[in-house]
Amino acid sequence: MNFALTEEQRQIQNTARQFALREIAPRVQQYDTEERFPVEIYRQAAQLGFAGGVVPPQYGGAGLDFLTYTCLIEEIARVCHCVACALSFPSGLAGSALLRFGTEEQKQKFLAPLARGEVFAATGVTEPHSGTDVAAMQTTARKDGDSYVLNGAKSWISFLDVCDWLLTFATLDRANPRKNICAFLIDRHTPGLILRPYKHKLGFRPLSSGDVVLEDCRVPSSNRLGAEGEGLRVAMCAVENGRLAVAARAVGLAQACLDESVKYARERIVFGQPIGKFQLVQSMITDMTAGIESARLLTYRLAWMKDQGATGVRQQASLAKMVATDTALQCATHAVQIHGAYGCSAEAPVSRYFRDAKVFQIIEGQNQMHRSLIADYALGYRQS
Ligand SMILES: Cc1cc2nc3c(=O)[nH]c(=O)nc-3n(C[C@H](O)[C@H](O)[C@H](O)COP(=O)(O)OP(=O)(O)OC[C@H]3O[C@@H](n4cnc5c(N)ncnc54)[C@H](O)[C@@H]3O)c2cc1C
Repeated sequence: MNFALTEEQRQIQNTARQFALREIAPRVQQYDTEERFPVEIYRQAAQLGFAGGVVPPQYGGAGLDFLTYTCLIEEIARVCHCVACALSFPSGLAGSALLRFGTEEQKQKFLAPLARGEVFAATGVTEPHSGTDVAAMQTTARKDGDSYVLNGAKSWISFLDVCDWLLTFATLDRANPRKNICAFLIDRHTPGLILRPYKHKLGFRPLSSGDVVLEDCRVPSSNRLGAEGEGLRVAMCAVENGRLAVAARAVGLAQACLDESVKYARERIVFGQPIGKFQLVQSMITDMTAGIESARLLTYRLAWMKDQGATGVRQQASLAKMVATDTALQCATHAVQIHGAYGCSAEAPVSRYFRDAKVFQIIEGQNQMHRSLIADYALGYRQS
């Protein structure tokens, strides 16, 4: 394993870092408070090719290797993981599903503009009664001539304010959903598609999440992605990419916690000395440093394995996702502690990191599920 970055990888990493510091850092606090996704910043990032990720250039992508892509997402997330989330979308479920299951026409129509950063997508998997248990979904699709009629609801779906289209899933048979799930690409303006964003959620506030209601929503058959009954495969085709991106975002957030804590611990004087001189504060800095180094190595290793063409890296994906997101919360907790009362104020970046870090443990497979999966692989109950 060689994680030494090439000159080109360093340049991309550095460009992302400079962009994040110059364009995102001065604005992030404000748009987080406004619960608004910064489309204008995203467009600038897209002009630098940052949305293109691992998508091949023939479909509007940047054709990056996974390690470079991971470093890019991490650097953006070090300032705002919500912008990083949007930039990871073309390389995540939305893009990967189109790449693998889409017709040439669907790729040109949906994937290429997404990878060029011209449009936004949302991915609607979670339902009010099925989050972790994806296959238990109850949204239905009924074939009617040359279209499908969808009824049901999805919940906690992100990017509702800006998305131009939605990748979502419905079953042809509610009694046996797993084998009958279909994937659909739905234009935002389709009659019967109702988007209801929530407000004031714990974290991830710039990502407008909410309910997607489907009421006799008619979708042309040409917008079905993959074959009938192939929907669960479509939904699961990008779990490794999704987990890699979430791990990279969590490492970026954890690093931001450490950066802020080191700065504050050097400046804040208590009992006549910088708090960084107290061993118990140093202990927190050590925990953070060790956690971040471990999480970053697991994340880079996953990216590196994908670059080697390794298949069956689900265990590594679970490890990277779980360790990186647990580390992010530990780092955020320590960061607030080190900042004392100031860490509890709305304007302290660490209070935002703290709110966001908790959410990381729930999305992209909650961490109890990853913990079980890792043990299942170790025990041989499950093959990668
Ligand atoms: C800010 C935010 C943005 C989101 N964006 C999207 C989006 O864009 N698209 C989308 O489809 N979804 C999205 N989600 C939903 C997210 O993917 C789900 O919340 C997640 O999959 C967990 O599902 P659930 O909330 O229904 O939890 P449940 O499945 O109800 O689980 C609840 C808890 O039960 C425990 N548990 C469940 N199963 C097991 C198990 N097998 N073993 C041990 N413990 C278990 C865990 O502690 C878990 O946290 C988002 C969520 C949030 C908070």
